[in-house]
Amino acid sequence: MTDFTMQTDAEGVATITWDVPGKSMNVLSEEGIRTLDGLIDQALADPAVKGIVITSGKPDFAAGMDLNVIGALKEKGGAEAIFGLVSQLHAVLRKIERAGMDPKTLKGGKPIAAALPGTALGIGLELPLATHRVFAADNPKAKIGLPEIMVGIFPGAGGTTRLVRKLGAMQAAPLLLEGKLSDPKGAKSAGIIDEVVADPVAAAHEWVLKATDADIVKPWDAKGYKMPGGAPYHPAGFMTFLGANAMVMGKTMGVYPAARALLSAVYEGAQVPFDTALRIEARWFTNVLMNPSSGNMIRSLFINKEALEKGANRPDVPDEKVRKVGILGAGMMGAGIAYVSAMAGIEVVLIDAKQEAADKGKAYSTGLLDKAISRKKSTEEKKAEVLGRITATTDYAALEGCDLIVEAVFEDVGVKADVTKKAEAVIPQTAIFATNTSTLPIGELAKASTRPEQFIGIHFFSPVDKMMLVEIIKGAQTGPRAVAKALDFVRQIRKTPIVVNDARFFYANRCIIPYINEGIRMVGEGVNPTLIENAAKMMGMPLGPLQLVDETSIDLGVKIAKATRAAMGDAYPDGAVDEVIFAMADKGRMGKKANAGFYAYDEAGKRLGLWDELGANWPQSDDQPELTEVQHRLMMAQALEAVRALEAGVLEDIREGDVGAILGWGFAPWSGGPFGWLDMLGAERAVQVADALAETHGERFAAPALLREMAQKGESFYGRFGADRKRAA
Ligand code: NAD
Repeated sequence: MTDFTMQTDAEGVATITWDVPGKSMNVLSEEGIRTLDGLIDQALADPAVKGIVITSGKPDFAAGMDLNVIGALKEKGGAEAIFGLVSQLHAVLRKIERAGMDPKTLKGGKPIAAALPGTALGIGLELPLATHRVFAADNPKAKIGLPEIMVGIFPGAGGTTRLVRKLGAMQAAPLLLEGKLSDPKGAKSAGIIDEVVADPVAAAHEWVLKATDADIVKPWDAKGYKMPGGAPYHPAGFMTFLGANAMVMGKTMGVYPAARALLSAVYEGAQVPFDTALRIEARWFTNVLMNPSSGNMIRSLFINKEALEKGANRPDVPDEKVRKVGILGAGMMGAGIAYVSAMAGIEVVLIDAKQEAADKGKAYSTGLLDKAISRKKSTEEKKAEVLGRITATTDYAALEGCDLIVEAVFEDVGVKADVTKKAEAVIPQTAIFATNTSTLPIGELAKASTRPEQFIGIHFFSPVDKMMLVEIIKGAQTGPRAVAKALDFVRQIRKTPIVVNDARFFYANRCIIPYINEGIRMVGEGVNPTLIENAAKMMGMPLGPLQLVDETSIDLGVKIAKATRAAMGDAYPDGAVDEVIFAMADKGRMGKKANAGFYAYDEAGKRLGLWDELGANWPQSDDQPELTEVQHRLMMAQALEAVRALEAGVLEDIREGDVGAILGWGFAPWSGGPFGWLDMLGAERAVQVADALAETHGERFAAPALLREMAQKGESFYGRFGADRKRAA
């Protein structure tokens, strides 16, 4: 069985069907490229073949290039191997585009059409773009686009060059730079594909039999081609490129090499003939793949994220899929968990102390579904179906038959113990009980349970419907079935899990709090707050620490500080942070929700700029630190904490540490996560930076023993704890 097969019918139409054996979605492999090439040669040479239709044997067309192949190729053969493969791919697609026509007269080629039954992403769209006409099924669930930028690369199989020449740089920019996906109708109105029909294979078949010589010449191969919207030195084109450059730098702060390389490929490619442009695209693509950032992004955002979602760390126990979930507490978190569960087809019992509160929790789903309907992303039927799965009640008896409980009541040991007992009196002996606590030890909460081995933490992030990470926390007594249940649940609701051990703040909050605190501490020291915020953004953090604490609220910070101080006693290290944050709280500047925090807000809640009295309260020193020093403080505060979490066994797998950091708190995605970042820096340099910071700013920056040891041995995190040697021990 090969990935592509071909059959020619009596009318002379050769249908090439892409159907990778043993996979639910087509992805392109090296072998696949060779097979496709051979079939195209065969069809073009066969006088019985009048035209070619390329389609898929699966419900979707293709998901793109197999990124594992790219990773392996880079390791084996480096830049030369990558450039070689990409050039080979370009040659095949160019052969499809030219279809055997005479290069001078542009006559005599065979029409080739693509028929897309469903989703077509990445190379799955670059291939159709090389054909002469693209037909897509009228399938609103299908996604069409070039999302490569999302994993740190850009479309390098001619997609960049073709789309820009087809639509112009201005129209192509959001598709390429943001990886924007559309449904087939949207893709047609954007000019990416040509037709949306009920039966794309039949329509493509009919078209190739009728197409004329002129129909199959691409505009850029015809005489007198001009790029829509103008090439770079055309006045309109000039403005486009200037704007695009500014936009990209503004959005990415220049830390994403793929966005810059993409712009260069487009800019340089637009000034030369098509085939030269393809070569330029291939060179920039190779350049990006050789950059450690792209490798780290692919590793964390694609390969490892997928591995974790598929249960890389799932104990080997039978299926634990959830059928009926009981959610205790219908507040902000409970309401969100109910929504994502019901959306996944799970029956939900949503309990609160008062019926109004339970109803309000359910109404949250109504609101989200109404919004989706108004955006044409859902229907009244779907809404009725999803709401029909949620029972909002105060009656614990309704929990009968639940195989999973997720508790999200107030953050209070007593309240949580009470609801645990009430629920366990009703649910089956086999049910798993999970708590969504963000600060209380799982071991402590499990004391209220008669079945501590079935007790676990499932920690969601807010807002639940948007945040993709779920942190699963094992207590000392948590057993494998509970872990499997939590993982199967997270898989059902299509989020990404990490599994960590029970310790203060688990993993994500443990690392994010030092980041926020470092920013606040700097305000107290007199560092210019603009410098603090911009330093963070220039390292690729989505929010500066001061904006982040405004979003999560100052009073939450105060609450956590007080609880931590009470728990740690004299060892508490953050007195200097508290001085600032307690003063903010005293002034009533509780953050975004109060329309006043480190930032100022207008009455509608729009963030205006940093609060102009910060300087009056914490005078800025005349001697401002270097940008790099501020950046190192903010990054090391997080990364060293991640290493400590690994060292302490809270994290068991660095892949989880990296994926969790990006999805949980937006840790500089370009770096692939804290361990990816430290590997880029190198352990030796990381220790130097930490030592220098520790000397000037205090012991919180002391390099963990593990990092020091790695520096001495010349090791990297992925070298030492990579996929097959993942345990920290
Ligand atoms: P919330 O105050 O919005 O909701 C708590 C709900 O529990 C309220 O509706 C309340 O009426 C209900 N409740 C209280 N006691 C009850 C009882 N005895 N029986 C039934 N219902 C009861 O709080 P939240 O923000 O949704 O947080 C809930 C839990 O999730 C807490 O443990 C919190 O630490 C955790 N958490 C919160 C966030 C966040 O960002 N807010 C993130 C992760 C985890």
